Amino acid sequence: MCPWHPPWLLLSRRFVSPVEPEFKYVANMHGNEVLGRELLLALADHLCQAYKSGDRSVQNLVNFTHLHLLPSMNPDGWQIATQADAGGHDWLTGRENANYVDLNRDFPDLDRVLFQNDEEGRPATSHLFSKKVLDHKLQPETQAVMEWILQYPFVLSANLHGGALVANFPYDESRHGLDHEYMATPDNDTFRHLALAYSTHHQTMSKAGASPPCEGDDFSHQGGITNGAYWYSVAGGMQDFNYLGSNDFEITLELGCTKYPPAEQLGLEWNNNKDALLHYMWQVPYCGVLRPVYSRSALCSPTSASRAWCTRPAPSCHWRALSSRASTGGCSPPGQYRVVASKHGYQPQETFVQVNNPAQEQALRVDFELAPLNSLQPALHSEVGPLLCHLTVN
Ligand code: ZN
Repeated sequence: MCPWHPPWLLLSRRFVSPVEPEFKYVANMHGNEVLGRELLLALADHLCQAYKSGDRSVQNLVNFTHLHLLPSMNPDGWQIATQADAGGHDWLTGRENANYVDLNRDFPDLDRVLFQNDEEGRPATSHLFSKKVLDHKLQPETQAVMEWILQYPFVLSANLHGGALVANFPYDESRHGLDHEYMATPDNDTFRHLALAYSTHHQTMSKAGASPPCEGDDFSHQGGITNGAYWYSVAGGMQDFNYLGSNDFEITLELGCTKYPPAEQLGLEWNNNKDALLHYMWQVPYCGVLRPVYSRSALCSPTSASRAWCTRPAPSCHWRALSSRASTGGCSPPGQYRVVASKHGYQPQETFVQVNNPAQEQALRVDFELAPLNSLQPALHSEVGPLLCHLTVN
């Protein structure tokens, strides 16, 4: 059996346990940028075939990770580019959805929330979304993907585009309204590592002279990567929404100069991207996942008001929040760590974990079962704040 559920969102089955780290690839957000769409279909096929034929690396990847592949976020735009433009000859036709909206400018602008927080001395860099942030009616595609992002505790993801050749990492939006401004997140080293994980495993992205510059942009001299806002500032993009809205590490992959390559180039492009697509997915255990679990008396409900935290049996607490607080500079370097989980209404708990980051191994998992402070009257999760995890180097 092939472990996927068609048709449009491909999802690996839950193989081992309900607490595998969540990973996603999204493509074709701009409908006329079609290569990512074809690559994700090819990737799904490859994973199925390799899994069935006994490829241990692919079997471990599928078994250790919950994989989501969305080949087309903008099927209407794809149809416009494919039919009205007869194959994407124009640079922009089909980029937007059927309502003429660019979906990668339509997400709630959480960078502005971040900047406001900074001015007011509140350093939070995750879970910044609330309904009061909304200043326009979201497109149906944006709304659906936003709910998906908030529903699953994704650890790592990438958004596949075309028109350039580079792996782009947050932040995407400049703080001071400049067109070009290096905007480092607290996890800048980690994001550089993740972008390089893709670019250096792509056949040409990081190699000088291996492919011609796109519109004058040649990123090979910087390893095939760029900070998003340093390249050009984008407000309302999906990449920063993932990071600031849900604690997910997302980068944006520009896969080549040609947005709509002819069919005969797809085999070459699959060869260019295959290793990079697989290697990037294997960064999930590098980033790890720390999954705290509440006391059974206070399991979160999918219908609760605190939806962003509680749509699963437990809220997620990823290494990013931990490493940021501990100033360890990104995904946890090998070493021993002290982890403290605390939540209002519960007794805090601490544990010590050894992080080794072995290649192609299962992500580290740590469960907490917090006891209510008052066992006769368990705290209601909807009345209290998020569960916090603190990580320090031991
Ligand atoms: Zn694009």
